[in-house]
Amino acid sequence: MTQTVHIIGAGLAGLACAVRLADEGERVALYEAARMAGGRCRSYFDPTLDLTIDNGNHLLLSGNTAARDYGARIGASDALVGPNECEFDFLDFATGQRWKLRPNASKIPWWVLFADRRVPGTGPLDYLDAGKLLFAKDGATIGETMRCEGVLWEKLWRPVLLSALNTEPAEASATLAGAVLRETLAAGGAACRPLVAKSGLGHAFIEPALRKLQSQGVEPRFGARLREIGFDNACARTLRFGEEEIVLGEGDRVVLAVPPLVAQELVPDLAAPDDFRAILNVHFRIAPPPGQQLLLGMVGSLTEWLFAFDDRLSVTISGADRLMDEPREELAGQIWAEISAVTGLPRELPPWQIVKEKRATFAATPAQEKRRPGARTSWENLFLAGDWTATGLPATIEGSIRSGYKAAGLALPLG
Ligand SMILES: Cc1cc2nc3c(=O)[nH]c(=O)nc-3n(C[C@H](O)[C@H](O)[C@H](O)COP(=O)(O)OP(=O)(O)OC[C@H]3O[C@@H](n4cnc5c(N)ncnc54)[C@H](O)[C@@H]3O)c2cc1C
Repeated sequence: MTQTVHIIGAGLAGLACAVRLADEGERVALYEAARMAGGRCRSYFDPTLDLTIDNGNHLLLSGNTAARDYGARIGASDALVGPNECEFDFLDFATGQRWKLRPNASKIPWWVLFADRRVPGTGPLDYLDAGKLLFAKDGATIGETMRCEGVLWEKLWRPVLLSALNTEPAEASATLAGAVLRETLAAGGAACRPLVAKSGLGHAFIEPALRKLQSQGVEPRFGARLREIGFDNACARTLRFGEEEIVLGEGDRVVLAVPPLVAQELVPDLAAPDDFRAILNVHFRIAPPPGQQLLLGMVGSLTEWLFAFDDRLSVTISGADRLMDEPREELAGQIWAEISAVTGLPRELPPWQIVKEKRATFAATPAQEKRRPGARTSWENLFLAGDWTATGLPATIEGSIRSGYKAAGLALPLG
């Protein structure tokens, strides 16, 4: 019988793994507990808004090489849009001051010499301090590595690192921050252009992948929740989904691409991240005013990032654990008051929806970083994937796709 790679979980890690293996001509079986693919990166129809929305706005950068490779493989490269050059619009809500951060394309960061390219109220030398993140000691926090105060911290490093790590930056891992910096800003503005899935995450990452897999003979099984893996000393031998048990054939392999807490239930003695941080998204059904930037970073407000889609304005707040128990109406009202002040749109609250993702990502602290396992396990034919495995990056699309690719490489017969 043909050997099969059984992939459990159709989030981005599982999908990337499936796409990669199917491209290599491997026989793939894909199982997903939910009724749809995408996991924490999904689009769905929201009846309250009568719109298709994303569970959360996702920002990518042009230096996210694996994400862009995946986009090309599934034929969706054009689904991510952004400016041709690296530029980020910011607003200080308290003072109304606006600025554009405009790093130059090449690796030599001459942009810091020009006041109209950098954060107002900062000088070129202020930017050197963040370079320490590139050489951070293992296990150090950002707070132990660089200065976490001052104008540049408040108006650039804190908001950017908070969104990249989804963890209060001062307590977050300096190594992870350094890894993000190395692949983006330190690689030059060409690697740092913001990219947004303007027509939705499903359109950019999920539906084209499912279509491609289908054309390669892979039909994902939805509503298939893996309950138990049966092991012998060397290998995984059975997969139990409810009443159904699949007996693995000789040469079959398994890639477990589920969240960390689920993986811990299925794999004996697995260390994995167990501390998480929330993200809050608020979607308002209203057309953006003419000229509204695709993405606006805001400081001094509850709103952190404002995304302008054709049919809605949408706000992201990272590290949002403090807001999880706040009444939804109050949150929507408070955030809309900020958005209407910034955009000039009427104060009257438009139709809104709040999406609270309590376990949006693992906490990017040094302690959690230590708990991330590699892709190999003690069992020859069982591999792990997911943004929480040891990718060297925080929990991001880029990290999850890399983890899927890594597991795919290991699961190949000579992996
Ligand atoms: C609100 C929000 C905003 C974010 N913003 C950004 C951003 O701006 N930029 C960025 O790069 N990243 C962002 N991220 C992170 C990004 O979404 C994740 O890193 C990525 O989607 C994780 O993919 P994954 O495949 O590793 O995990 P998951 O998406 O969690 O996939 C795991 C899959 O396994 C399935 N599953 C679970 N248990 C079982 C079982 N027993 N059997 C079968 N299937 C099972 C789940 O249903 C799920 O589909 C954000 C995340 C959230 C939640």
